[in-house]
Amino acid sequence: MRVTFSLSLLISVMFTIQTSAQEQPAASALSRAVVSAPNMQPAIPRPEQDVHAAEKLAAFEARTGQKPNIVIFIVDDMGYGDPGAFGGGAMIGAATPHMNALAADGLKLLSTYSQYTCTPTRAAVYTGRLPVRTGLIRPILAGDTITVNPWEGELSVAGLLSAAGYHSMLVGKWHIGEGEGMRPHDVGFDEFYGFYKAQKEYTQAFDPRRFPDLVLDPDKLERYQSIGSNNDLVYGLADGKTETVETIDSTEKMAEGDKMLRDYTVKRIKELSEGDKPFFISHSFMKVHADNFPSKEFRGASASKYPYRDNMVEVDAYIGDIVATLEDSGELENTFIFVTSDNGPQMDSWPDSGYTPFRGAKGTTWEGGVRVPGIAYWKGMIAPGQVSDGLFDLMDLFNTSLTLGGVDISALPDDRYYDGIDQTSFLIVEGGQSRREHVYNWLGKQLAAMRMREYKAHLLVTLAQEKFLYIDMATVVPTGLAPWLFNLYIDPKEEYTVGHRMNAWTASLGAELKAHAATFAKFPPKDSGL
Ligand code: CA
Repeated sequence: MRVTFSLSLLISVMFTIQTSAQEQPAASALSRAVVSAPNMQPAIPRPEQDVHAAEKLAAFEARTGQKPNIVIFIVDDMGYGDPGAFGGGAMIGAATPHMNALAADGLKLLSTYSQYTCTPTRAAVYTGRLPVRTGLIRPILAGDTITVNPWEGELSVAGLLSAAGYHSMLVGKWHIGEGEGMRPHDVGFDEFYGFYKAQKEYTQAFDPRRFPDLVLDPDKLERYQSIGSNNDLVYGLADGKTETVETIDSTEKMAEGDKMLRDYTVKRIKELSEGDKPFFISHSFMKVHADNFPSKEFRGASASKYPYRDNMVEVDAYIGDIVATLEDSGELENTFIFVTSDNGPQMDSWPDSGYTPFRGAKGTTWEGGVRVPGIAYWKGMIAPGQVSDGLFDLMDLFNTSLTLGGVDISALPDDRYYDGIDQTSFLIVEGGQSRREHVYNWLGKQLAAMRMREYKAHLLVTLAQEKFLYIDMATVVPTGLAPWLFNLYIDPKEEYTVGHRMNAWTASLGAELKAHAATFAKFPPKDSGL
């Protein structure tokens, strides 16, 4: 009873009012995490593993004379159960042989976490900070009245690596602001070739089958287009140069979007491999976000013949093409590769949507919304055939990429809080263990849930009023006297709580949440007016 009382107190006091600063409380007895600095997410110490990883990286550098390249593939809205390596693939009529091969020849991460929608995840990956801290909690749209550019003062992994001698490049979807000062090439990427928005934000202006009320009504369409949102495939450089490559004005053009992105990454890898700089590439697919239009070459390419599934086959093929280019240009052994999705499947657009074995979907903090496939591959550096259920938050890619690039995380400005954890040793040491003890699931500005080990406690839950309508017809409600506590080992679908009396871990919950809350008192979140 005492625990649940203090919990409700915590939610109201710490997360809504955020009053006085206080000392960061010690973690609970059941937490293995240790505070290394007041502005860093506590992590589980793995000293021997860390030493082994450092030796391995030093040997790599001695052997190759360079820091490793980093290529991160983010597939938009791909479900946990979409890749064959995660239980989908051929079983759901869309074989993914290339992703499967990377998983089989690398490390398959079964407990990888994103944020609950596109923008927050991407912001978290690039800044290593929870979106609630940066204010990058949703797309910044044309017409939004923001008081502060949330990017101002933020350090991106792309910018930090660029300063350390990398060529940093975003190819594909951005979705974290399209105004000057918020574009990828304004916030650290040396080069940008891609799109500012999600697929349907383009196609809704010219797809009469899906949006007839807008597309076939000239007055409405003109008013909609007067908002002035960018409809182009854009090329931009860090010096400010920004050009339109192509204006997307038909579903046929959108269908070929990812093919153009694939071609660009392939071309640039060939060129960059001739140079002397290591590269950091975020290849962020437009697919498989609704609405899906397969490239000509992939129409009907999946066994299922549905556009979403065809697009899974297409995305998988492009991953294969880019990996093959790395191999052909002699860079495969020099390149750390990560494959993931930015959130769970968007079930609201079913059947134009992916598959998750878990409860919930995109837009929620149920496992179905935030648990995503994670594959780490590095030929010769990550032992093949490994599988781990260790916790990995996609924000950890910030710290891990910096460590791979030789950037000292402890030397970053200490005026802000970093939520990512350096997972280099987890990923590159054979049999490595995760250094992450907690995953916090925020729903906009509200903390909705937390996972620690195999336990997950919900303070707020999203309840769909119709099956699949987790965004468009759902309510978010606080849980009752006790948080909803699930044991994800015995109940991965979060169907039946273990109850507040059932597990000693419940007693630690208050202390863990209090420690997290205290970081916000000490490092107040940015209010951008969004
Ligand atoms: Ca997404």
